[in-house]
Amino acid sequence: MIGCDCAVCQSTDARDKRLRPSVMVDVAGRARILVDTTPDLRQQALTHGISRVDAILFTHGHADHILGLDEIRRYNHLQGGAIPCYADAMTWDTLRHVFSYAFDGVARLGGGVPRVDAREIGGPFAVNGVRVVPVPLWHGRLPVLGFRFGDFAYLTDCNRLDDEAWGLVEGVETLVIDALRDKPHTTHFTVAGALAVVARIGARRSYLTHMTHDLGYAATNARLPAGVELAYDGLVLDVRVDVE
Ligand SMILES: [Zn+2]
Ligand SMILES: [Zn+2]
Ligand SMILES: [Zn+2]
Repeated sequence: MIGCDCAVCQSTDARDKRLRPSVMVDVAGRARILVDTTPDLRQQALTHGISRVDAILFTHGHADHILGLDEIRRYNHLQGGAIPCYADAMTWDTLRHVFSYAFDGVARLGGGVPRVDAREIGGPFAVNGVRVVPVPLWHGRLPVLGFRFGDFAYLTDCNRLDDEAWGLVEGVETLVIDALRDKPHTTHFTVAGALAVVARIGARRSYLTHMTHDLGYAATNARLPAGVELAYDGLVLDVRVDVE
């Protein structure tokens, strides 16, 4: 956090150095699927050597998940075209408003706008044959999306699952779930709330994400049950996805 001298912000543990939440699902020979375009996308791509993005999925339209969309210009250039981007109708409204210059159709001298192939999510879909199941979640009063790929589910920014969502995450083996902090919050799971979800889903391994600086890596990990860890920037997991 800017201007914070707390123990976590001052920690020398690399796993306490957190950029905004995002994951890449890299299916060899099929697709590299990026979930969300954070304000830190450029730094994340440089740090982790992300040289290609075949599709982008958006969970919701909050600033920490969309503001890096302009950075995809580099991938437009490298790949020679627009990038297929998937979002629900409400998130598209936000994206078209926030990035109006990319959607207004006005030709600009010098070019330089992100080229987006906009696709609206209306149910399960496939990206280059990789099956994606959107999981409707509640983020306070805002309906948002998690995504399931085979036995892996990424459920960021949420504090409630309804019956439909519970059904869609059945059998997940690797779970990433929002856990902001211990103190209650109106739109994010607490650690205890996330652990209740973890227990009900019963994944083989679960990772907490979207933490604030209340939660240091080492101290928090030490009190989590077996099979649950804090996620950290650069974490790589092998998962099984469904391909068509
Ligand atoms: Zn701090
Ligand atoms: Zn959010
Ligand atoms: Zn967020």
